[in-house]
Amino acid sequence: MDKQKEEYIVIPITLSLPCRFSAGPYMGRFLREFKQKRILGVKCPSCGRTFVPPRQMCGRCHTETCEWVELKDTGTLLYYDIVYYEFIDPTTGEKKPVPWVHGPIQLDGSDGDVVVDEIALNPTHFKERTMAQTLSTLVHEMCHLWQHHFGKPPRGNYHNKQWATKMLSCGLIPSDTGREGGKQTGQNMTHYIEDGGVFDT
Ligand SMILES: [Zn+2]
Ligand SMILES: [Zn+2]
Repeated sequence: MDKQKEEYIVIPITLSLPCRFSAGPYMGRFLREFKQKRILGVKCPSCGRTFVPPRQMCGRCHTETCEWVELKDTGTLLYYDIVYYEFIDPTTGEKKPVPWVHGPIQLDGSDGDVVVDEIALNPTHFKERTMAQTLSTLVHEMCHLWQHHFGKPPRGNYHNKQWATKMLSCGLIPSDTGREGGKQTGQNMTHYIEDGGVFDT
């Protein structure tokens, strides 16, 4: 047999390259403060725009940003999108299970969309539920995210008092039965919309 035409024997090996890199002075300070539950941004001295996460240079004025400002933990959900397209998540290198919801939040006092969270809702339930019910589930999940960033999240997917208080302030009444009189904290929780409450109106 012709040795030249012999196929190579291939052994597939997956290399893992764990590495660490410095976040740098701007991102480093932002992350350190974020750990302390403070959101900092930087202000451009020439056009006055505030960037979160901070940027060293203003893309519009080409000026170095140097003034640090603290922002509130309130903002506006600019829009949200349900993503059905499967792709590799660059942060994990794995396929992200679909569907998931993408929603940028613009923090009050900042110019640009900032802390981006993803909320996954199962669209197969959408058709059996009213728009208000579906959106109330989004708010339910947003209360978990609020607690995750700014409160004290409990272990696992437990729903505690702090979460329940946030839900109530959004016009949603937590209930383990989904009806009036149900327990307001626990492992498996749902909610109902408060009649005439802030969510309803
Ligand atoms: Zn500027
Ligand atoms: Zn929940």
